Amino acid sequence: METRRSDEALIEALRARGHRVTPQRMLIHRALQELGRHATADEVMEAVGGRLPNLSVPTVYATLDLLGQLGVVRRISPGEGPLLYDPRADDHHHLVCSRCGRVEDVDARVETGAAVAAARRAGFAPSHAEVVVSGLCASCASS
Ligand SMILES: [Zn+2]
Ligand SMILES: [Zn+2]
Repeated sequence: METRRSDEALIEALRARGHRVTPQRMLIHRALQELGRHATADEVMEAVGGRLPNLSVPTVYATLDLLGQLGVVRRISPGEGPLLYDPRADDHHHLVCSRCGRVEDVDARVETGAAVAAARRAGFAPSHAEVVVSGLCASCASS
């Protein structure tokens, strides 16, 4: 996504939920967009680099979690390994390698309506549903 457009989307999302627009939130979001891949909080922190000199790891986590709640980024728990943050907030699914932990995007039309409906019947308030395909990535499968 183009930087200005993703900045605007974040500003809109923050304001809509009554959060302040701060340079910290803007830069952390921008760093993840610039990385353009699933990244750990540490990687995002590194990507922010000197742009926020007093940035701490807990702040990066808290900010990324807020961005996740706002729906502008996604949190992925790959099972093993650290939590990943996904700059893509649109509908897509993930392939998770059970050997090396690699997480890849997969675009596929998946009907998750039945799962969402069942979640509602269980008293759950679903926000989104995605499919995680586990197995071996191409390079692990060929070695
Ligand atoms: Zn692998
Ligand atoms: Zn993804």
